[in-house]
Amino acid sequence: MNSKPLVETAFTELPDGTLLDTIEYIHQYPADSTCGYIDLAHLVNLRLMCDGESSTTSPHQVGRVLTSFGFIDRKRTNTGYILVLSRDTRERIHKLMRRYAIEPDNSVNRDTCYFCIGWHKQIGLVPQNTSQSDGMGRQAK
Ligand SMILES: [Zn+2]
Repeated sequence: MNSKPLVETAFTELPDGTLLDTIEYIHQYPADSTCGYIDLAHLVNLRLMCDGESSTTSPHQVGRVLTSFGFIDRKRTNTGYILVLSRDTRERIHKLMRRYAIEPDNSVNRDTCYFCIGWHKQIGLVPQNTSQSDGMGRQAK
């Protein structure tokens, strides 16, 4: 038999849940240098539950999706694999975000994200007065 089960097909064609949660993770925890597959799986499962889905994912499946998107900079720890959030990784995440037109939740603060600000500047959407100012035209230090 050559036909794939529908669920597996849907998962491999729509791995955006993992990507979306990875995007939200790097904006919610901008100082983190790594991100555990187990933490991402937890986020994906929370979203699936909120969406009323009965399916769940595992850290292993999260790893497969990340690998399929070319995220291979990972390390094995005693709690499982972690994705290394290097500059390259963050840049790639943003490229995929734009390629697939993925919009993170509005509650995610992207104002301080170098890659999001850079992109907004390119299309002329950079918000005014993003720099710290004392209101007298001087830059606060
Ligand atoms: Zn960003």
